[in-house]
Amino acid sequence: MAKKSLLIGLLSVFLFSFSSQQEVYICKGKSSKKYHKSNKCRGLSNCSTSIYKVSLNEARNAGRTACKIEY
Ligand SMILES: [Zn+2]
Repeated sequence: MAKKSLLIGLLSVFLFSFSSQQEVYICKGKSSKKYHKSNKCRGLSNCSTSIYKVSLNEARNAGRTACKIEY
């Protein structure tokens, strides 16, 4: 029983760190306020600057919201 809950604990830690390390794509253009799941998203196609890969947390901390096309 104890072993089983330890395993579940480890698994949830693993899943948590995995999800917090999720990477998203952002455009640094003036009008860009979204983050994108894919660098091939339509929302990035008219990006005037380079496309940057950042962690999901970073994007959220920068005030970015999820892309409406993908999420
Ligand atoms: Zn998008």
